[in-house]
Amino acid sequence: MAASTPSVLLIYTGGTIGMIENPETGALENFDFERLLKYVPELKRFNCHLSAEQFDPPIDSSDMEPRYWAKLVEIISANYDRVDGFVILHGTDTMAYTASALSFMLENLSKPVILTGSQLPIGMLRTDGKENLITSIEIAAAKNPDGTAIVPEVCIFFENHLMRGNRTTKINAENFNAFRSFNYPPLARAGIHLKYEPSRIRHSDATKPLKPHYLFDTNVVILTLFPGIQESIISSLLHVPGLKAVVLKTFGSGNAPQKPWFIKQLKDATDRGIILVNITQCSSGAVEMERYETGIQLLQAGVISGYDSTPECAVTKLMFLLGHGLSNQEIREKMNSCLIGEITKTAL
Ligand code: ASP
Repeated sequence: MAASTPSVLLIYTGGTIGMIENPETGALENFDFERLLKYVPELKRFNCHLSAEQFDPPIDSSDMEPRYWAKLVEIISANYDRVDGFVILHGTDTMAYTASALSFMLENLSKPVILTGSQLPIGMLRTDGKENLITSIEIAAAKNPDGTAIVPEVCIFFENHLMRGNRTTKINAENFNAFRSFNYPPLARAGIHLKYEPSRIRHSDATKPLKPHYLFDTNVVILTLFPGIQESIISSLLHVPGLKAVVLKTFGSGNAPQKPWFIKQLKDATDRGIILVNITQCSSGAVEMERYETGIQLLQAGVISGYDSTPECAVTKLMFLLGHGLSNQEIREKMNSCLIGEITKTAL
């Protein structure tokens, strides 16, 4: 291989993609790199140096936690100067949370970090894992003529779409198109050609070194409103000892009941220093708190807008900011700022 041959590190955390069906027993067994090469011989044809690391033991992504995100960031920063890009093989269930968290943890990222997985194990005949893996490696290795990465972002690649990681949500437990990025268009599509959309791709200042972050504070909760929600339940939740922030999933463009007790519970919580972030229950679109009286009341109660954030992104961003010992005001300001392409700032 030429000296300029790109190199990619595969990091296997667990999940369906790395399960290989033993052809003799039919049982699902966990991945190792040698076995992967056996089942995906196409990998040997890549003009690319591949190396691999794996979680031991691999985990189902339902068990994913901030300490595993920190482990991923440790692996990425330890290999950062050695390779051109990273592919993280991850269970689909919480992949959108991991992608969101990593986007905040890897400050000044100038290399691709592509998360992928599959709905069917890689050893199965109809697996979607092979295609997802092969194209993810291609994206992780892709460079511009000047040697810089084409996609220096944390992304999810799934079923022909490359999406900004902190914009994604898992939407399907059955079909191969398991992920969507409702509020930001894909960064690339894979058809006969891999078509990148350069204007949608975010670039950090490449002169700055990678700055890894590891800290999270998990004293947060996501609260979905519904008609009939009870005062005693809201009150108990907002008085949980240690609670620091709530992602409030409201109706439509950021609306909530106008009942005086409800607004008072929220106002009392913000007065006690709890940060309340308003995002919509709708899959697509943004919160506009100034649009209806119901939203204005939330603003007056001190609730801040989460704009068009996904729940996965809002909650990981809060945990990340809280983990860094910022003041309440600083966190409110940063929740209202687009740090790494995670929100579209058009409305309150
Ligand atoms: N339960 C698995 C996981 O998220 C499902 C998958 O990999 O798709 O780890």
